[in-house]
Amino acid sequence: MRVLEIASEAVPFAKTGGLADVAGSLPEALAGLGCDVSLVVPAYAEALSKGLPIEPAGIEFDVPVGTGSRRARILRCRREGRRADVYLVANDDLFDRPSLYGGASDYPDNAERFIFFSRAALELACRLGGPWDILHCHDWQAGLVPAYRRLLYGSHPALADARTVMTIHNMAYQGLFWHWDMLLTGIDWSHFTWREMEFHGQLSLLKTGLVFADSITTVSPTYAREIQEAPGGCGLEGLLASRRGSLTGIVNGIDTNLWNPATDPHLPRPFGEADVGAGKYAARAALAARLGHAAPDSRPLVAFVGRLVEQKGIALILAAIGKLAGTGRAHFMILGSGGHEEEDALRQAAAAFPGTVDLVIGFDEGLAHLVQAAADITLVPSRFEPCGLTQLYAQRYGSIPVVRATGGLVDTVVDATPEAIRAGSATGFVFRGFDAAGLEHALGRALTAHDDESLWNMLAGNAMRQDWSWEASGREYVRLFERTRAAT
Ligand code: ADP
Repeated sequence: MRVLEIASEAVPFAKTGGLADVAGSLPEALAGLGCDVSLVVPAYAEALSKGLPIEPAGIEFDVPVGTGSRRARILRCRREGRRADVYLVANDDLFDRPSLYGGASDYPDNAERFIFFSRAALELACRLGGPWDILHCHDWQAGLVPAYRRLLYGSHPALADARTVMTIHNMAYQGLFWHWDMLLTGIDWSHFTWREMEFHGQLSLLKTGLVFADSITTVSPTYAREIQEAPGGCGLEGLLASRRGSLTGIVNGIDTNLWNPATDPHLPRPFGEADVGAGKYAARAALAARLGHAAPDSRPLVAFVGRLVEQKGIALILAAIGKLAGTGRAHFMILGSGGHEEEDALRQAAAAFPGTVDLVIGFDEGLAHLVQAAADITLVPSRFEPCGLTQLYAQRYGSIPVVRATGGLVDTVVDATPEAIRAGSATGFVFRGFDAAGLEHALGRALTAHDDESLWNMLAGNAMRQDWSWEASGREYVRLFERTRAAT
C-alpha cells in the first residue's frame, strides 16, 4: 500500500507539540508493516538548521495560489536506517521564519502558507508518480488535501484511486480564516457553504478536511466519542456525529527508541525497571545542577512538561502549588512555554516558593527527557486531551501520571483503585471534574502512595512495562487504510 503522510510538523524536522511526535514516528511504523510510505512537511528554517542530511530532490514546480502562483522547491532527507521517504516543501517567503505558525500571535498569512503547502503536497504526489493508495492528512494545515483530491485532482492518474484519511490531533485548532481567503484555494465559491467549507462566515480548513475525507480518525477512542458532542466538538460536533460511521479513534504510539530510559542520551545514567531508583537519583542530581541548586531535593518531584495554555490545566496546577508548596510535601518542576498569562502566573509561583517550585520557560527537548526521568509524578490535568503523550513518556520513565479523566488520558492511565492495585493493573491516579479540588485530591493520593515504597515500586513497574510502541496502533492504521480503500 502506497501512503503519503502530510503533516505541518514532524520530529526531527520541527516540533511544537504531539503532532510532530506522531508524524515523525508513524511513517516508520507503517513502513515496518509493509507500506510504501512518504512523508511531506514544510521546509521551515528550524528544519534546515539542524544539520540533518537534507538535499535538493531535483523537483521544482509552481503551485497555483489565488490568481498567481508560488514556487515550490522540493528537498529530500535521507537518514540511515529510515525506510520512509521524507520530502520537504521549500518556499523561503513562506517558511523561512523564526517559528512554525507565529510568535505571540499567528502569522497573518497562515491561510496562504498552508493552502500552498496542501496543494504542493498533491502536486508532489503527481510528480513522484502514482498510483497512491492513501493520502493521510494531519490537522487543519493539511485540511484542504481531501477537497483538492476530490475536486481538482480526481482525474489525475497518480491520484484517481487515492483515498483520503483526515486525522484530528486537536479539535480546538481548526484553521479558521476570513472568507476572502477562499480565493486563495482555487476552489469554486459554490463550496463555501455551511455544508462544506464555511463555518460561521469563515473559511474552516479543518471542517473542509472532515467533510471531504473518505475516513476520519482521531487520536484516542474516548476523544472520538467526546468530539461528537459539545463542547468537545468545538462547534463541529454535528458534522462529526453525522460522520460517525467513518470516524475511528486510534491511540498514538510513542517512539520507543527516542523515549527509552535504558538508552536515552539525555540522561546521566540510563536505567530500566531494575535500577529505576538509581537512574532517577542521577537524573535528579543532573536536573538540580542544571537549575543551579546545590543538591538534589529529597522530596517527591512532581513535574509538568507541556504547552502552558488553558487546555492543559495550568490554573489547576497553580492552585495545587498554592495548597501544597507550603507543606514541604513535594517539589515541583515545570517546563513549558505558551500563553503570557500562564507564564507570568507560573513565574510568580516560582518566585513565591524558591527551591520548591522550579520553572523553565522555553522549549527544550533534552530537558523534557531529563525531567521525565527525574520525576516521581507527572501532572496532566487537562480540560480536554485528544491523546496526550506526556503521560505515556512518564510511564515509560517510571513517573506516575496524575491525570484528568478526559480523552486519551482515560484510554491510557488506569486509576490506582484498591481493585486495580490488587489486579496489578494500576498505572496512575485519575480525577474527574476539571477543578482544583479534583487535582489536589488525586495528587494527595499519589503522594500518600509514594510514602509506601512497595506500593510505589509496583505502580512504577506496572507503568514502565506498558507497551506504548507504535506496533499495535500502526496495525490499526493499516487496517483502517484497507477498510477505507475497500469502502469507497
Ligand atoms: P500537545 O500535542 O497538546 O502539545 P502532547 O502531550 O500530545 O500535547 O504532546 C506534547 C509533546 O511536546 C510531548 O512530546 C512533550 O514532551 C513536548 N513538549 C511540550 N512542551 C515542551 C517543552 N516546553 N519542552 C520540550 N518538550 C515539550
